[in-house]
Amino acid sequence: MAAKFKAPRGTFDVLPSDSQARARVYVAAAMAFERAGYGRIETPVFEETELFARGVGESTDIVQKEMFTFEDQGGRSLTLRPEATASICRAYAEHGMHKLPQPVKLWCWGPFFRHERPQSGRYRQFHQIDSEVIGTDSPLADAESIILLSDLLSELGVPGVRLRLGSLGSHESRKAYRDDLRAYLRQHEASLSEDVRSRIDSNPLRAFDSDHEGTQGVMEDAPTMLDHLDAADAEHFEAVKRAVSDAGVEYQLDGTLVRGLDYYTRTVFEFTSDALGAQSALGGGGRYDGLVAELGGPETPAVGWAAGIERILLALGETEDEPSLDAFIVAPESQRDRALGLATEARRAGACVDLDLAGRSEKGQMKQADRTGAKRAVILAEDGSAKIRDMATGEERPLDTSDVAAEIQRERGK
Ligand code: AMP
Repeated sequence: MAAKFKAPRGTFDVLPSDSQARARVYVAAAMAFERAGYGRIETPVFEETELFARGVGESTDIVQKEMFTFEDQGGRSLTLRPEATASICRAYAEHGMHKLPQPVKLWCWGPFFRHERPQSGRYRQFHQIDSEVIGTDSPLADAESIILLSDLLSELGVPGVRLRLGSLGSHESRKAYRDDLRAYLRQHEASLSEDVRSRIDSNPLRAFDSDHEGTQGVMEDAPTMLDHLDAADAEHFEAVKRAVSDAGVEYQLDGTLVRGLDYYTRTVFEFTSDALGAQSALGGGGRYDGLVAELGGPETPAVGWAAGIERILLALGETEDEPSLDAFIVAPESQRDRALGLATEARRAGACVDLDLAGRSEKGQMKQADRTGAKRAVILAEDGSAKIRDMATGEERPLDTSDVAAEIQRERGK
């Protein structure tokens, strides 16, 4: 039967067969953040459009082309969040978190929305893990953030991970560099893409991100920000590199790394995986010292990153779900109510138990027990007696029916 409705273009359903691998990523992230003293924050999936226009930057692809923006019944312009940092900074300012001991370390996990051309690893609704350390300009905070993501990826077993690291300098030192870069781009204007040419004034750094061949050729010899860092920025960057190296995390220096968002200052970084195709970025981030103030809060330095959950799962490849059922209860018609009673009792005691709810014959129930991957079948008989069957070996033994739940628990512990 052809389905009448399908999930919208660029979106997908997370089916039960996909959910265990996803949950593993969530649990590993939650524990990594807990070990490092982070608190979890949840912000709404939509915000005032102005927050992203200001926070992400008017001249970025995200704001110019990729936002899902709509008007509510009251005529307010709202946008489905394309990223997390602007919302978290809004929450930091709104809840007066600058009065808390600094820095405030926050993380979140959830869906994000960008109107991009869907392809493998690129969706219109995707999911990110996001980390923010707000209220410190210490280079150790940059290093700690990078190390945390690096360790998380290696704990998950993501293959072929590489880290690129750069610095964009502070807003002040970047001004002079941008003028140099603009002059360089103007000299080579004829070879640049239309898109890059139109942004020479507003956002010359984006030329580094272009996939246009002519532009890429020009950018190979372009001046980079790494050669223009002032003394304070250079010292900050040295300290970040030192702390990252000391933790045994390898990186490649990259002066062409600019990232798609306008708010970055000083440190920027990106993790990629060789196991991914064209969309190779697993996650990345950097320092954004001006953003909280830009959004109306006090001057507050901060650093953060976001990692794409679908990209992590793609890089990990197909994984077999571990069956989790301790037992499947098989019962003749007369024992069905009792089967639910036993399942309930066993579940209340912490075991994973399922039973037939579709009126199958006992033979059908045994087949179903097999399909679910349950480790054991508890088989009830008409006379009220019971036995337990090891599904792998076929071994059976009688079961004390007065205490089926405890028996399942005991078997589970074996
Ligand atoms: P960004 O917020 O652009 O720095 O993205 C951080 C990470 O989110 C990227 O490295 C990707 O892993 C993931 N990501 C970004 N956009 C998408 C998308 N459209 N589909 C899937 N993953 C994405």
